Amino acid sequence: MREVFLCKYGEIVLKGANRAAFESLLCRELKYRLSQVGKYRITRGQSVITVTPSGDRDPSAEESEAAYSTIMHTFGIIAVCRSAAAPKDFRAICDTAVSYLEGALGKAKTFKVETKRADKRFPMRSNEISAELGGVLLSAYHNLKVDVHNPDVTVRVDIRDEAAYISANLEHAAGGMPVGSNGKGLLLLSGGIDSPVAGWMMAKRGVKLDAVYFEAFPYTSIQAREKVITLAKEVARWSGSIWLHIVSLTEIEEDLARSCNEDYFTLLLRRYMMRIAEKLAADSGCGALITGESMGQVASQTMESLAVTDGVVGMPVFRPCIGMDKEEIISVARKIGTFDTSILPFEDCCTVFTPKHPKTRPTSEAVEAEEAKVDIEANIKAAIAAEEIIKINYKDSFDI
Ligand code: ATP
Ligand code: MG
Repeated sequence: MREVFLCKYGEIVLKGANRAAFESLLCRELKYRLSQVGKYRITRGQSVITVTPSGDRDPSAEESEAAYSTIMHTFGIIAVCRSAAAPKDFRAICDTAVSYLEGALGKAKTFKVETKRADKRFPMRSNEISAELGGVLLSAYHNLKVDVHNPDVTVRVDIRDEAAYISANLEHAAGGMPVGSNGKGLLLLSGGIDSPVAGWMMAKRGVKLDAVYFEAFPYTSIQAREKVITLAKEVARWSGSIWLHIVSLTEIEEDLARSCNEDYFTLLLRRYMMRIAEKLAADSGCGALITGESMGQVASQTMESLAVTDGVVGMPVFRPCIGMDKEEIISVARKIGTFDTSILPFEDCCTVFTPKHPKTRPTSEAVEAEEAKVDIEANIKAAIAAEEIIKINYKDSFDI
């Protein structure tokens, strides 16, 4: 059975004069992503993008699943109807509906049929089609009853110019805006739970992602780095390809440990991270930094600490998790598929030299006095000069 995907897009229909540009961005992105799965034709019309296997191809069930999953990970699409295409003949529509919908109708108790007839030349009216097809389905599935108010399954028939499409329930998809429609941001990606969620949330709003991971080898392990690479692949499934910068903080941390008051250690390190991230961001065309901080979660995330951290950055810092509880962040992490990787037990560079009594109400003056004891500019230059860059290809996200 040739499966066709009807993809509804949401917010971008409100974009007025810019709508066409958003639509082509979404179609381009979808086309590129699906080209990694198989050959598909993408057509656009009436707030719906139709994805059809190209030519007379009849993809395997496995390929169809992969195409569906790819569409479900593409921001800008709010709902997807998996549909079977049938010739525009009522008998053919009924036969297709009976066989294609077996998965959905076989175990349902109630259903209704809704028909949309865009092609007015089709000889039956919408209500007629719904009623007659309903009758056919009732005699094919004895488990079913009609419930027009609250059915388990809504069968949809969409009669268009090129074919009739038959589908069961509309599935909620990723929502958001097409990636790339709102610039590019640099995600500070640690191995924790919060930062992949933060990256996903910004990608959902159309922000293309690059990422930076700070390590402190040999205090942090190669496994910690592998874990972050896996997380980047998991995020890339949603956001598209990511350039991942890997920057060593080993010398910076050892220098801080030698020279500065331990109580300020985490904050000093965070200011280093932000300064380095901002330079990398500016050099790669990113307009903002993105972190996974959440208000009050740890000493470095009090209002005063965040102000001191922000004091060294000129570009906007987006913290989409700021108002979320840990439980809420975890539930997003589970939904997007990063949680199981995030909880693998590898050390983070911030946890290597953790102060016993971190400052929760730091002042800029005190932090600056500590920074005067080290050569920040030289240290940053050396760290950036030694960075490694890995391209996480969109396609790599299929391997995990
Ligand atoms: P996460 O769960 O994302 O690791 P966290 O609760 O552990 O966050 P912190 O360690 O204070 O919090 O880090 C706050 C934010 O700073 C992280 O969400 C991330 O954006 C960034 N960050 C922390 N450590 C690193 C690192 N080693 N590399 C890159 N970014 C980091
Ligand atoms: Mg962390």
